[in-house]
Amino acid sequence: MICQRCGYCCIHLDVNIVDPRSVLPGVDIDPGKMDVWVLKPKGQRCPHLSFQGDLAMCIIHAMPCYKGSPCDQFEQLGREDDLCVLGAYFKAVGYEK
Ligand code: SF4
Ligand code: SF4
Repeated sequence: MICQRCGYCCIHLDVNIVDPRSVLPGVDIDPGKMDVWVLKPKGQRCPHLSFQGDLAMCIIHAMPCYKGSPCDQFEQLGREDDLCVLGAYFKAVGYEK
């Protein structure tokens, strides 16, 4: 699945994310913090989401704590080189960023 970096899934899905209070910016999870995961409810913008123009960026994407997270494992049915259909769906039904 090829991500178009629209950011819709980071806003309009329920997903467990790394608790922002557990992150040392630019490094990884603070080893002193115990509660690493927190539910980001649908409709609420993920605190790790940022935009450069229209391009969505996940600020923890390159950190070790992102590896194996639900976001990292997000896939959809179809071929590996298919464009993400989820973002197109959110856009088509009128969801906003
Ligand atoms: S952690 Fe990153 S990929 Fe996951 S919802 Fe937040 S911004 Fe999106
Ligand atoms: S909805 Fe799809 S294309 Fe948009 S950011 Fe999420 S994975 Fe990428």
